[in-house]
Amino acid sequence: MRSISSHWPVSFRLTMTTSTHLLRNVAIIAHVDHGKTTLVDSLLAFCGTLRPNEAQPVCVLDSDPQERERGITIFSKNCAVNYAPTTGPNAGSTYRVNIIDTPGHADFGGEVERVLRMADGVLLLVDAFEGPMPQTRFVLSKALELGLRPLVVLNKVDRPEARCDDVIDEIFDLLIDLGADDEMLEFDVIYASGRDGWAATSLDGERTTIQPILDEIVERVPHPSDDPTAPLQMLITTLDYSEYVGRIAIGRVYAGTLTAGSSVAICRADDKVERVRVQKLHQFAGLGRMEVSEIHAGDLCAVEGIGESFDLGDTIADPERPVALPRVAVDEPTLHMLFRVNDSPFAGREGKFVTSRQLADRLQRETQANVALRVETGASPEEFQVSGRGLLHLSVLIENMRREGYELSVGRPDVIERVIDGTMCE
Ligand code: GDP
Repeated sequence: MRSISSHWPVSFRLTMTTSTHLLRNVAIIAHVDHGKTTLVDSLLAFCGTLRPNEAQPVCVLDSDPQERERGITIFSKNCAVNYAPTTGPNAGSTYRVNIIDTPGHADFGGEVERVLRMADGVLLLVDAFEGPMPQTRFVLSKALELGLRPLVVLNKVDRPEARCDDVIDEIFDLLIDLGADDEMLEFDVIYASGRDGWAATSLDGERTTIQPILDEIVERVPHPSDDPTAPLQMLITTLDYSEYVGRIAIGRVYAGTLTAGSSVAICRADDKVERVRVQKLHQFAGLGRMEVSEIHAGDLCAVEGIGESFDLGDTIADPERPVALPRVAVDEPTLHMLFRVNDSPFAGREGKFVTSRQLADRLQRETQANVALRVETGASPEEFQVSGRGLLHLSVLIENMRREGYELSVGRPDVIERVIDGTMCE
């Protein structure tokens, strides 16, 4: 992700340490094509967080090239906006809204639960013509399990064939089906057209700006109630990787304050506790990240320079009183494929990187951030068994490697079998 801090308006840069009641963490749940990316672009543009030459809709959330082409979210990303309401009870304050993207394909389902843990509320975005779709059901059920209250956004209301009342009934039925309580069933509805940049709290409301969505988030999504004075606890929920800084830990600080330069403990899966120093801290800002000196409980951040020996689910904790948070499970792989050097008669014609050493390095690098992926050496040094969550998961990796100039041959995908309670299961 690019760093765009130098492009931030001064007002944004000054609000680095937002108190928890001015903070909102909201996850967006949407079926593919229901307009999530366009809507987020619209929110970012409204809050002035796109650079002037990016002021046109650019599909910010789906920033991976394949995500744009395939129209799906593969790796969930966070972005953030600063919003100062101009009217109503909250006018005069500047809020920071962390927007957490959720993956929209079952292959990436394991990621859903983890990223939802960072949120205090969800925006359920539904196409006003199509209504709620199967994938929405899965993600929404996870959100309800975590007690996150949905704020419903009926999107694409501009469509002539929109059927708002029916779709609201369908959402109501879906929530009943998923066992939502009475409070959740009294959901608020926002009517919107992300493409045309407007939202309204009633069907006949003014259709001028996207602001009502931000007002509703500020109003309805609870602020984090985490204690910034308690001993530090940050749960590592997502991993990122950069060639320059190595592994990056991303997650929410649930207690205490994380300070750049300070020493912290990492509580690992094997119950080992390692002490490291935090080199750099970043907060989410627009579509990029901004370096900050402190992150208080309730906020999300990216931590750099704490070595390589941490993993998803580890807790970054107070070095004097390290207490781990409950771990988040990573979904087990379901399919594996053999990746091997291309030794066909046409070898070496397409790629720059063709040796097994180069393949091994690239695959190893991928496992640094692609947490559901496993790589093992195969029967010979030329081959690797790569296991992933599904065909889409593996095909995205293969295509990325191809585009980067790697040449390889792959075998057919095989379903992984496992013995569970004495029974062989796929
Ligand atoms: P995503 O897959 O949920 O991220 O959806 P996108 O934002 O990529 O949008 C999918 C398609 O719906 C694109 O062709 C958009 O131009 C279109 N779209 C997005 N928002 C709106 C809207 O508010 N109204 C209409 N009519 N079309 C929209």
